[in-house]
Amino acid sequence: MTASHLRPQFVELIPAQLAEGVLYISTQYKTAVHLCPCGCGNRSVTPISPAQWALKWDGAEVSLWPSVGNWGFPCKSHYVIRDGRVHWASRWTEAQIERGAQRDRADRQSYYRAVRRPAEPDASGWRRHLPGFLRTAARAIRSHPDDS
Ligand SMILES: [Zn+2]
Repeated sequence: MTASHLRPQFVELIPAQLAEGVLYISTQYKTAVHLCPCGCGNRSVTPISPAQWALKWDGAEVSLWPSVGNWGFPCKSHYVIRDGRVHWASRWTEAQIERGAQRDRADRQSYYRAVRRPAEPDASGWRRHLPGFLRTAARAIRSHPDDS
């Protein structure tokens, strides 16, 4: 069955059997897992980190950003979860999926390079190339150089 709403459930470990319409969130493992809302039964895993997904919980509903693209499943579902609601997005073509994957890899590589070398004297160079949310993360890391 298609799910149009996902309610959050905070867990320590992701259960083996998942219910439809639930977004399981393990703060310990910084991961969220849910059954694909198209009803295909595949589980979509979204690691929560500055280089992957950002999760927002307002006390009742959750939002995940960026969109979830289940390119590895036959359904190839693509959607945004905002305030618990599933907003369906267009399916991507194979070329778009490949470009998106390349961009994700590049973003992750620059993020991890940035994190490994937070005290570079000319850090402005790499920060210019990072997307906005990573720049914020980079600033946060640089302003707390002792918190490692
Ligand atoms: Zn699906």
